[in-house]
Amino acid sequence: MRTLIAATFFLVLTAPALAQDEARRPAAPKDGPWFGVTLPPKAGATPAVKVGTRPPRPTSPDTAAPEFAGAALKADVETIVGFARAAGMSKEIGSGQMWGRISGFPSSDKTVQWAVDQFRKAGITDVKTQAITQDEKSSLWLPQSWKVTLLGDASFGAGSNDIVLESALPVGPSSIPAGTLTAPLVYVGAASPAVLRHIDVKGKIAVQLIVPQGHMLFERGAVDSRAEELVKRGAIGVFNLVRLPGNELSRDFSDCGNPCFNIGGRDGLFLESILDRAAQNGIADKIRARIDLQTQTYRGLKAINGVAIIRGASDDVIVLNAHVDGWFDGAGDNGDGLAVLIALARHFAKPANKPQRTIAFVASAGHHTPGINGPRSFVTANADLAKKAVMFVNIEHVAQRNFSPARTTTADGYREAVADSGEAPIAVGVTNNSPFLQELIDAGPARFGVNFISERSTFQSGETGGWAGLNVAKVSVMQAPPLYHTTGEVLDVISAPGLERIARFLAFLVSAADKAPRERINP
Ligand SMILES: [Zn+2]
Repeated sequence: MRTLIAATFFLVLTAPALAQDEARRPAAPKDGPWFGVTLPPKAGATPAVKVGTRPPRPTSPDTAAPEFAGAALKADVETIVGFARAAGMSKEIGSGQMWGRISGFPSSDKTVQWAVDQFRKAGITDVKTQAITQDEKSSLWLPQSWKVTLLGDASFGAGSNDIVLESALPVGPSSIPAGTLTAPLVYVGAASPAVLRHIDVKGKIAVQLIVPQGHMLFERGAVDSRAEELVKRGAIGVFNLVRLPGNELSRDFSDCGNPCFNIGGRDGLFLESILDRAAQNGIADKIRARIDLQTQTYRGLKAINGVAIIRGASDDVIVLNAHVDGWFDGAGDNGDGLAVLIALARHFAKPANKPQRTIAFVASAGHHTPGINGPRSFVTANADLAKKAVMFVNIEHVAQRNFSPARTTTADGYREAVADSGEAPIAVGVTNNSPFLQELIDAGPARFGVNFISERSTFQSGETGGWAGLNVAKVSVMQAPPLYHTTGEVLDVISAPGLERIARFLAFLVSAADKAPRERINP
């Protein structure tokens, strides 16, 4: 089986490798600017993932129930994405280059207010917002405006004007006290010590390549430590070329000590190509970039949680949670999870579905803003409910479509990505490994068609961390899609049937837990 997978992978990957060889073919110097290399696209010119006209895999018709209808849930995701987009348009942060539903800012509060409104419209009467103040030891760094410009030079070919890399995004907490710096670039690739001993990065901006195996979270340790190493060796800045689909801005990875930027896939390919051409022509040192950067650090921010309670006959509490905050459009992180939370509130608010236990729905201020944690604040503000909790369910990144490398490349030779009919894999963590809960989860793929990974797990996400002190089962459903925290995570990649599948599964899980003795949930 392993051989088969490896062989398939090889077939898929040789095509892009050929395309890139083509793009980097040594230099009979071509006419035209920038060594004749195809210029990178404008940001947002084409989607990161192509979504064709063929529809996603439908839900089975006999599972229809109006509160879980996929189209309606997707309309809610669109509304949630709208709060982020409006914040970008109104320049909530600096120049509007950075946007999202950011806790501590109106974009997040408006999303919570909308969720609270939906809880009320569902017929729930015990609904409120609860205030959160950012922990005084914490701060939030946000870039206000920035620009990474490759400086043109006649020796690159006639007409080689300056080029702005529009997918560049500074990594927190980068800063440039003078606001601008200019330096030559040096390519270090995967930047291993064996390679670095041959490269002098002093006084230069080091350019390292990251090819994520899944989402950027998996790369954090390696990327951050290599960037730090480059700065230790004298680099005055680091560019992380993030080889993900499209040409997206990505907010991930940490400070390298000097200004450090993530650069999107197609801008990154362009940069690699011209560094190669310049090297082949003996003018590698002539490739230079100017970085302009303004930033701000925020303290004392205020946010809100939205909380709805359906009282059951029993005092036992089941808590359902979805974070509202997200970077950029955040359709999948966590627009889809929030839409599913609202759908579950509509479901359990119906008299026919009235739970025996109390259910608390939390539209959480989330965890992206340091010093603001929605679940932690919920536990503090509702100690009585938290004390009686039997289970906490975190709904986070749940209905993005799966995608794969496409057979096609763009004009610049970059591999395209295309959505298929199903959802990206969903990991399900049960912190206490309760066999009862694990068996319910095991039934998910067959009963509801959810794409759960095959491995049972006890993982929990950052969002769940606020419940660390409470010794009850904490269940997390979570995709690890590669485009999270990037501008590529847009409404179009959310699957309407996928939203319905996970919502129906979670209703099943919660209903079963509602009827189960405490000791089965928490053995
Ligand atoms: Zn998230």
